[in-house]
Amino acid sequence: MKSLLFVALAFHSLFSFEYTLVPKKIETKIYCFFGKPQIMDTHNNGDISNSCFVDLGKSYLVIDSGPSYKYARDAHKAMKAIKNQKVSFVINTHIHDDHWLGNGYYKENGATIIGAKIFANTPKATPIRMQRFISKEAFLKTKEVFPTEHIEGVKTLDLEGVKVELTSFDKTIHTDNDMIVFIPSKSVVFAGDLVFNERVLSLRDGNINNWINVLDEIEAKNSKFIIGGHGSLYLKDSTEMTKRYLKAIKEFVLESIDKGQDITDTLANSRMSEFEHLKLYKEMHTKNIETAYRTLEWGDE
Ligand SMILES: [Zn+2]
Repeated sequence: MKSLLFVALAFHSLFSFEYTLVPKKIETKIYCFFGKPQIMDTHNNGDISNSCFVDLGKSYLVIDSGPSYKYARDAHKAMKAIKNQKVSFVINTHIHDDHWLGNGYYKENGATIIGAKIFANTPKATPIRMQRFISKEAFLKTKEVFPTEHIEGVKTLDLEGVKVELTSFDKTIHTDNDMIVFIPSKSVVFAGDLVFNERVLSLRDGNINNWINVLDEIEAKNSKFIIGGHGSLYLKDSTEMTKRYLKAIKEFVLESIDKGQDITDTLANSRMSEFEHLKLYKEMHTKNIETAYRTLEWGDE
């Protein structure tokens, strides 16, 4: 009895931190945990991006596994409160680590992890970026566990009778290899970080021209729900802000280049009052202008 008590206490103290994850029901059998519109820190502990789950019937499919082992464990606990079943499949939309460091928990519990092909060639990072920003308690047991199934181009999977269409884009959009998940029977697209809303997006690793074009492709699926990687809007018009912002900065930067302004002048004039009210404007906007300038100055189209 004494040793049992010890084990219980030890287990309890192993995870002294708890994420507060409340699933939002999007539609029958589809739910999301919407992350906070913030930069990762020791308060949110990486809970800044969206993680969604689909009840396939016998088990769950998870789209993006979140920022840590503990996040995934807490997310699964919240899923089990809805329907007590395991997670059989996890899909990683892209390589940014707030979206897939929960893989370790799901893998340990038998899930198949599916990702875009870039994951096959990704070297392990030491230390993992997330580790530097979130608390030790939240990061506990987190390791880089990569997908074992890699997707190239368009592939339709049959997961417990549910058709799931994956598109892995072979060009730089938000990153070098972004993937979207389309479930026709549910009329839903999980767009990963190709769609941001309620905050300013991150163009750092992206290409502005490709990003604007791919939004048309996503919208052309004409699905009822489009769920991004950041932001809690989930209806078909959830792409509006991403598109408007990208088009606005593209227009501004091209005009600036046309006028012969260099990067310093361009950045100095880059204030956009239309977007200033958005979360993370201060942190991201100037950097986005700079990335857009670097892409557009060479006439990349
Ligand atoms: Zn991202």
